[in-house]
Amino acid sequence: MMTRVKAVVSQLVGGQAAAGSSPQLGYSRPVFLQLSPEEREQAADHSRRNIVSPSSESARRRLLLPWDTGYAEVINAGKSVFNEDQAAREIVWVERRNSNSSTAGEVVKGDRSTGKERDGLEFHYWALFDGHAGTAAAVMAARLLHLHISEQLQDIVDILQDGDVPPPICLTSHTKGVTGNGAKCPSHEGDWEPPTDSESRFLLEKEISHEHLIIGAIENAFRQMDQQIEREQKAHGSQGGCCALAVVYLLGKIYIANAGDSRAILIRNGEIIPLSNEFTPESERQRLQYLILAYKTIEEDDLKFPLVYGEGKKARVMATIGVTRGLGDHNLKVHCSNIHIKPFLSCIPEVKVYNVTKYEHGVDDVIVLGTDGLWDVVSNREVADVVTRVLSSCQPDDLNRFTLAAQNLVMRSRGILKGPSWRLSNDRLGSGDDISVFVIPLYGHT
Ligand code: MG
Repeated sequence: MMTRVKAVVSQLVGGQAAAGSSPQLGYSRPVFLQLSPEEREQAADHSRRNIVSPSSESARRRLLLPWDTGYAEVINAGKSVFNEDQAAREIVWVERRNSNSSTAGEVVKGDRSTGKERDGLEFHYWALFDGHAGTAAAVMAARLLHLHISEQLQDIVDILQDGDVPPPICLTSHTKGVTGNGAKCPSHEGDWEPPTDSESRFLLEKEISHEHLIIGAIENAFRQMDQQIEREQKAHGSQGGCCALAVVYLLGKIYIANAGDSRAILIRNGEIIPLSNEFTPESERQRLQYLILAYKTIEEDDLKFPLVYGEGKKARVMATIGVTRGLGDHNLKVHCSNIHIKPFLSCIPEVKVYNVTKYEHGVDDVIVLGTDGLWDVVSNREVADVVTRVLSSCQPDDLNRFTLAAQNLVMRSRGILKGPSWRLSNDRLGSGDDISVFVIPLYGHT
């Protein structure tokens, strides 16, 4: 049976092949926006920079953006033809592998619980992708990453659902055929000796929790997604890449996976809790220095630029790219050289975990996700202040309040057009980048 991810890939690739190798092929705005042709045209106007949000009709929006998630976006001020940000919001059903059902990896429509009668698990998913050098990588990741996560979770859904300890792992080199839970490894040949006290302590420390299995599944999904983009770039000669920030809610915990310079913060009772780190040439200088030593094919003469060239937002890996983690960029080379950038650009995200069941959340507690277009010009504190002001000015049962908060954040970071440039209220330059923002409420959903 063709899996869901393969079916979608096939559909996507089929479309690309039919239309040649244009990297812009398949470009669209997020599906949940449901833009009409006229609205699409308005959203693409660099001179007006209209702020775009989902339908104001509540029943439709609840179906397309469950949890009353707020979302808003705006196109850049002319730095690229298209809006290179992409966003995704899905509920995905993960069926057990041995199930006879054909719904493995099914994308669930609407905010409904399907997990009680069926054999599997459901996860909620939000993601932002910030593309560069074209839109193709971000578009593909927005359409596929959640399905790769679903495929990876299928391998462990039995363990997660049954609540069993993870399958035994033979630690023969340390413990003479003893498994991770202290029993004899079924695949071990030869004599078996029970673990000593120190070995038991070692085994206890090595026991892999469900949380770590899920983190591993998400990391693998990012790797699979990166390989998928590589195959497409080789087949069609396309270029470009994207930063990826994905949030998965599964079994009472929120997993925040970040590869790039987008950011997630939690605002809980007015307090700001960072949920991600940005990965830039400056923040990963040490990892880059280690890699350059390990990269045997680079000669000293090849290094025409410093490893980290420039400072702050202008810092680039060998004067070429401003982020050190992300998807794609398989064809990218250092300027005027044959050195591939990819070894320095990791596709593996940092995954942080927030255990939502440990806290009681108020009606104004939210997670804010934003691409760097937001965070370049507003601080965490300013974002929290805007969100708190907007949410407290609305009735708690107003379903539109999280969208209003997202719109206000985009407005605050875009600014208004004064003469030739976009300006903030303090007259500083506004963000000329694409800006995309999710505001995810936690009250009543976790
Ligand atoms: Mg950006």
